[in-house]
Amino acid sequence: MAYNFGMVSPNVTYWKNRMWPCGVVLLTALFWLNVCAAMEQVTLSRDGKNVHLSGKVLVEAQDGGVLLMDREGVLWTAQPDEIVKRIADDQPFAPLGSDVLKASLLQQLGGDFRFHQTAHYLIAYNTSQAYAEWCGSLYERLYRAFHNYWEKRGVTLVESEVPLIALVFDGKVSYGKYARTELGETTSSVIGYYSLRTNRVAMYDLTRTDSLRERNPRISSAAHVNRILSQPGGERTVATIIHEATHQLAYNCGMHDRSASIPLWLSEGMAIYFETPDLKSSSGWRRIGSINRVRLAGFRQYLRTRPADSLLTLLASDLRLRQTRTAADGYAEAWALSYYLINRHQKAYAKYIQTLAAKKPLQVDTPEERVAEFQAAFGEDLQKLDQDFLRYMQRLR
Ligand SMILES: [Zn+2]
Repeated sequence: MAYNFGMVSPNVTYWKNRMWPCGVVLLTALFWLNVCAAMEQVTLSRDGKNVHLSGKVLVEAQDGGVLLMDREGVLWTAQPDEIVKRIADDQPFAPLGSDVLKASLLQQLGGDFRFHQTAHYLIAYNTSQAYAEWCGSLYERLYRAFHNYWEKRGVTLVESEVPLIALVFDGKVSYGKYARTELGETTSSVIGYYSLRTNRVAMYDLTRTDSLRERNPRISSAAHVNRILSQPGGERTVATIIHEATHQLAYNCGMHDRSASIPLWLSEGMAIYFETPDLKSSSGWRRIGSINRVRLAGFRQYLRTRPADSLLTLLASDLRLRQTRTAADGYAEAWALSYYLINRHQKAYAKYIQTLAAKKPLQVDTPEERVAEFQAAFGEDLQKLDQDFLRYMQRLR
């Protein structure tokens, strides 16, 4: 596969190792206290400096550690011994206003960034305005399509509580500099990603990859970007940024909780389900749920050696999607299973999504609990479901 998908980071263990500031994060005693949605001002002492946070505490552990979402939508965990001061406001939580948010982003990203605001997104970019506008239009269409699609299927969604932020860098170098702290060694092979910690998608201008830039030195309009990316090879790169934007939507519309344990096959399967781009339509998104040819071919290849317990291992843990050796087959099966369930078990799938949406933050399910939750939605007999799944996928043309 030429491109990697880069959602970081979908589970608590991974957060612990890779994502959270300071690397030391897990709240130990997970006794949920009643946490209200009022704003709090929290000062942390971290790396010899004081960090001032303003936001809402999502979880408070019995030992005083907290999980907090700040007013930009960034998640922070703090151990009890890091907390210097904590003051509760009477005010309800509110995201940062547009001007303050932009000023904060400029401070984090550097002064050459500009902004393109759409109904639901704030796009910070240091590439051409035409490319930023193209991204904004693509994301807004995806937003509408995503909401329409699930609401028609009985899944209740909400509007995002914080602005959806997309960062668009002018090329691999500036993107790499930003992404490296989150992606580490894999940065060079990931063209865009969604971060569960910052809640942002980050990517670079796809028309500035070497081969496309030579043929298209200047981008003049969003329509021009469309033409460029409709060329052979463009479809998969666009699919990647839609994939990441789908993760961002799912985690901000009340479908998944960023601090809950959402099975990776489910979140990845859904992102792949949506990733088939529709560059020709300027008003809608007609191709949601089209067969993903790349993943179908991958799944058929996998069927030659697919073990009898494949469904069970996919449901029970995230391991198959996380390990490099098994990831391609795992992603293909995650898409295939999602495709099958969405089409053949629509009501049960909607119910299952709602079960997952109600999960408590930072609670890790055992493999047995994950399988039991799946069975509660789709039936006890996994073997029968597996047979029907394989028959259905074999019939797809
Ligand atoms: Zn993904």
